[in-house]
Amino acid sequence: MQKLIAGIHRFQKQYWSANQELFERLAERGQSPEALFITCCDSRVDPVVITHSQPGDLFIVKNMGNFVPPYSESRLEGTGVAAAVEYAVEHLHVRDIIVCGHSDCGAMKALYMDRSHYSGTPHIGQWLKYGEQTMRVVTACYPELSREERLEITSEENVLVQMENLRTYPVVLSAAKEGRLHVHAWFFEIRTGCVHRYSPSREQYEPIRYEGE
Ligand SMILES: [Zn+2]
Repeated sequence: MQKLIAGIHRFQKQYWSANQELFERLAERGQSPEALFITCCDSRVDPVVITHSQPGDLFIVKNMGNFVPPYSESRLEGTGVAAAVEYAVEHLHVRDIIVCGHSDCGAMKALYMDRSHYSGTPHIGQWLKYGEQTMRVVTACYPELSREERLEITSEENVLVQMENLRTYPVVLSAAKEGRLHVHAWFFEIRTGCVHRYSPSREQYEPIRYEGE
């Protein structure tokens, strides 16, 4: 804890001081983030660090496995993620939604474990049901691979499944149809720092290259 408290001190003396105008502007005008960024709780995956963003740039949702529960008429399931999606699209008018998976994801490994493993932590077992469709896709599309090999691509396929779930939200569908919203599938490789994006036309993940300036 002492490390965090010392960090707050350094933040206030250094980062905040250097960005005082930014914080004052954000406080006065409110937030207007560019994108909704949905990724895993994993402490090694930080959207602001990966994209070298600033406070105010990203509306971030983190959960175990970067799952997006499908739109539910009952409004009883996955409400935290669902509310954030609706708020980001309809109230913050974000132009992009990024679903970002990552290497060595503990939630993906957990999908391969027997649910009885989580009998003492029932919310984990319940939450993992949002990965069941991913497991069905992986089992159907990669039957020849060993369990270990399949684990490697589960994270990548999971992002694509969650992208499909995003498209079950009426606000996402209508905003995308009107051309004011784009959804993206990304994958972050912890060891190399490389970020890949899925190319729907080439049906594969490719490293994101900078094409500006
Ligand atoms: Zn993870």
